[in-house]
Amino acid sequence: MSSKVRVRFAPSPTGPLHIGGVRTALYNYLFAKKHGGDFVLRIEDTDQNRYVEGAEDYIIESLNWCGIPFNEGPGKEKGHGPYRQSERKDIYREYAEKLIASGDAYYAFDTADELDEHRKDHEEKGKTFIYNWHNREKLKNSLSLSQEEVEKKLEADEDYVIRFKSPQDETLDLKDVIRGDMEIDTNILDDKVLFKSDGMPTYHLANIVDDHLMKITHVIRGEEWLPSLALHFMLYRAFGWKAPEFAHLPLILKPQGKGKLSKRDGEKMGFPVFPLEWKDPKSGEISAGYKEEGYLPEAVVNMLAFLGWNPGTEQEFFKLEELIAAFELERVHKGGAKFDPEKTKWFQQHYIQEADNDILADEFQKQLEKKEIKADKKYISEVVALIKERVVFPKDFWDQGYFFFIAPTSFDPKDSKKAWKEDTGQLMQELAEFLKSIDNFEAEALQEKVKTWIKSKEIGFGKVMMPLRIALVGALQGPDLYKIAEFIGKEESIDRIEKAVETLK
Ligand code: GLU
Repeated sequence: MSSKVRVRFAPSPTGPLHIGGVRTALYNYLFAKKHGGDFVLRIEDTDQNRYVEGAEDYIIESLNWCGIPFNEGPGKEKGHGPYRQSERKDIYREYAEKLIASGDAYYAFDTADELDEHRKDHEEKGKTFIYNWHNREKLKNSLSLSQEEVEKKLEADEDYVIRFKSPQDETLDLKDVIRGDMEIDTNILDDKVLFKSDGMPTYHLANIVDDHLMKITHVIRGEEWLPSLALHFMLYRAFGWKAPEFAHLPLILKPQGKGKLSKRDGEKMGFPVFPLEWKDPKSGEISAGYKEEGYLPEAVVNMLAFLGWNPGTEQEFFKLEELIAAFELERVHKGGAKFDPEKTKWFQQHYIQEADNDILADEFQKQLEKKEIKADKKYISEVVALIKERVVFPKDFWDQGYFFFIAPTSFDPKDSKKAWKEDTGQLMQELAEFLKSIDNFEAEALQEKVKTWIKSKEIGFGKVMMPLRIALVGALQGPDLYKIAEFIGKEESIDRIEKAVETLK
């Protein structure tokens, strides 16, 4: 690659960023980092009707949370800004006019009502109205009207749009890094609007002009933009600019059934489709986010990386650095990628095991504080190490480890029935007495003593260990019982046994 790689993520701030958008950003980021390039964020906010308050901040926070920040964009000016299209308004008209001058675009004065008429007319005849080569000479535009008429209309400030003049009878050769070469017959293309009567460019014009001015070398975006590729290609040609390389990423599909993954799929099946929680500024409706559900960004990033790409090896766990090293656009799939919420959990389970115990302990400590439980950070961290393997989300820490902090407040009825028999109370009372005689409560030493004691009674281990677990934990769950006893200490262990004997009489 000759010039420095520059890619951009160009979302429209019309609401929260869907995880499909995050994947687009991720692939752009990986590609940029791999080639020592720049990752630009451009906010495409030319459609003021669809602008949503807070969406831009949400996009930026999402990228930051995922650990894939842009290095150039709003607030990070690097000489190619401004990076919000609404702040670049004045630039676009000049380029639209250039295309008129070169004969690649034209003014069209047809009113919305007139176009509606044409559409209806066509529908009645079972046809679709397309504004292009086959009828543009008959419509109201600078190709059909005399120059004088056109000037009169412009002077009279009549509403107009500027349309691209798609060529007739031409086969375009389009290239896409992922999809390979494609041929498009220009006769099926319509003359897209580039510039609107409100003085704003459409997506197509603004997007191409900005990619050019911002020196973008690779356009990596979702498959939904593939139908625009022919027009974009023709625009580059009309301007006489070198087109960037294009790569259209596959759709993200529903876990079940056909079609694109939607917000509703997530709601129905109970998984987020947004990186962060989002509160709709108008309706107040809240949509779940991966962050707030307790997912680690590493898990979300690893999952997204595999939605449409694979390294061609067996390896599935990839930290960001490894993804950067392994990522290749050529290995992105053409076909849609089925979203699998269980797979995300699987990644999550892996990364929570990898996470630093002290960091997880911070999180657990916050939960404990909410319950007004004070505990030493070191102690919490040691508990985390013991119960971590049973945990998928930080919120599971309490369920898996409450008994390290409080005595059980109840005894699971089913488990108690299984573990606590008629003679258990007596036996546990004896055990409590025996424990009083033991000074060293470290798990290993304790285990030896208790085992010898059980053997001397000539009874099965389960007869003691199960009710002991009920007494210390309140249910038949949790890590090594001797570790629990060591952690809560001699006095508390004996107290809990006596309380269980009292309660389960
Ligand atoms: N503004 C478009 C979007 O919202 C950008 C598409 C592109 O990357 O060209 O996705």
